[in-house]
Amino acid sequence: MKYCVVDRGDEISQELAVQFHKLASRYNMVLDEQFPEVVLSIGGDGTFLQAFHRFEPDLGEKVAYVGIHTGRLGFFADWKPDEIEHLAELMNTASQENELRTVQYPLVEIQITTEAGIETHLAVNEFTLKGIDGTLVAQININDEMFEMFRGDGICISTPSGSTAYNKSLGGAIIHPSVESIQIAEIASLNNRVYRTLGSSMVLPKHHHCDIYPQSDKRLLLSLDHLSMQLNDLISIRCRVADQKINFSRFRPFPFWSRVREAFIGFDVK
Ligand code: NAP
Ligand code: MN
Repeated sequence: MKYCVVDRGDEISQELAVQFHKLASRYNMVLDEQFPEVVLSIGGDGTFLQAFHRFEPDLGEKVAYVGIHTGRLGFFADWKPDEIEHLAELMNTASQENELRTVQYPLVEIQITTEAGIETHLAVNEFTLKGIDGTLVAQININDEMFEMFRGDGICISTPSGSTAYNKSLGGAIIHPSVESIQIAEIASLNNRVYRTLGSSMVLPKHHHCDIYPQSDKRLLLSLDHLSMQLNDLISIRCRVADQKINFSRFRPFPFWSRVREAFIGFDVK
């Protein structure tokens, strides 16, 4: 099995990476920084996001991710540091049996149209659009029909696995990753007698799309997961559930709702 490790860069994560390389060579796994079949992310959810954006453009669905968390339990990094030996052993068994059990989670695809052309990007958590110089004013169309004129700080469009991240802070719902969908959440919308937006977040199923048409030529800030870029000549953004998905290696079950409970409620609460 060809593998690669991405670590957060702190001492603990780096030590674990060294430890994993030793275990991997014991099991005849081959380090391949370019075309790995499995990418082990050691750190936090943010580390995993970096790993995804490093390998996704070239490898797409040919790679599967697994994560060890060196801080609090993560949504993408759900193995504990002291389980590293067990994890390596399970990876070895899976590779011998040629059965890398994976689960697939949906991604959000955005098509950015600027004067220069069209660019397509994927995000695991979400993308957001905000105004840099002030209020974002944008017309929102759903399935080619005008839905609303948005005024406010911005718009967040998340995947089900991103629903526990920024989307949650915005009051969006938590969506199970088996529900192939994207969620549109407002970031501080202006609502008064003149301006009106829906106010609730919306969940769009696969095969629906949403177009965002900014109404002014202000500078805009677009974020994709942890990455961000400034746009000066944006014409529109089309968003939808991507055809591609992300693969996670599941060497043991860890139900999504248990992770949600462990992350946000804790197990000691009555
Ligand atoms: P960060 O500022 O370290 O991330 C913010 C927090 O979100 C971290 O605790 C991170 O976990 C956690 N996180 C990331 N993905 C998650 C997920 N799917 N479910 C639950 N929590 C998640 O920056 P980062 O680590 O590079 O992560 C980028 C993400 O931060 C963005 O994709 C966005 O979702 C989120 N964010 C949230 C807000 C907000 O809630 N107001 C604002 C901006 C961005 P780790 O500590 O394990 O990395
Ligand atoms: Mn982080």
